[in-house]
Amino acid sequence: MNIIIFGPPGAGKGTQAKILVKKLNCLQVSTGDMLRDEINKDSEIGKKIINNMNDGKFVEDEIVNKLLEKIIFDTNKKKLIFDGYPRTLNQAKNLENLLTKSNQKIDYIFFLNVNKDSILKRIEKRKILEKRSDDDANTIVNRYDIYMKETKPVLDFYSSHKDFHEIDGNHEIDQITSKIATILNV
Ligand code: AMP
Repeated sequence: MNIIIFGPPGAGKGTQAKILVKKLNCLQVSTGDMLRDEINKDSEIGKKIINNMNDGKFVEDEIVNKLLEKIIFDTNKKKLIFDGYPRTLNQAKNLENLLTKSNQKIDYIFFLNVNKDSILKRIEKRKILEKRSDDDANTIVNRYDIYMKETKPVLDFYSSHKDFHEIDGNHEIDQITSKIATILNV
């Protein structure tokens, strides 16, 4: 079972993905974590993306798509939970192609819908807990605005999928998990 958790920055995608990984014994694919790793390793990719990441801008599709391709073929059909990918229509189409090539598909898409005020409050909290360099006030607003602009076409692309589920992400973590678990029947 492959799942996409979709939603604005601070919607709780990573939190829910981690909980589902334990319940379903699958692998979390967080492009944000993969990109931060590249920066920490000071790799060639890391050097290319650091400015965009710090400014809250998207990393180029080409770079992210390559990282994704590696994961999909390396994990050899282990079930995946995508967190933070796809973020653009190009990435969504790339994911479809890669999964088709490896005889897989997306089974569920959960859209965690959270309003802007809650997001700004949550990211302020996360900034203190996780000390992420892209969680400062200007960058947060930037990331939210970019998300609204770039990611809307991805939402339209998936909204007709038979297992697309919009979840009210303004609730507590365990309430959201319980809604997802009911749909997944786990
Ligand atoms: P996240 O941890 O998902 O909030 O992502 C943190 C940052 O990583 C984003 O603000 C982007 O700069 C970059 N990033 C993560 N995933 C992607 C993606 N799928 N496409 C482009 N940039 C991404």
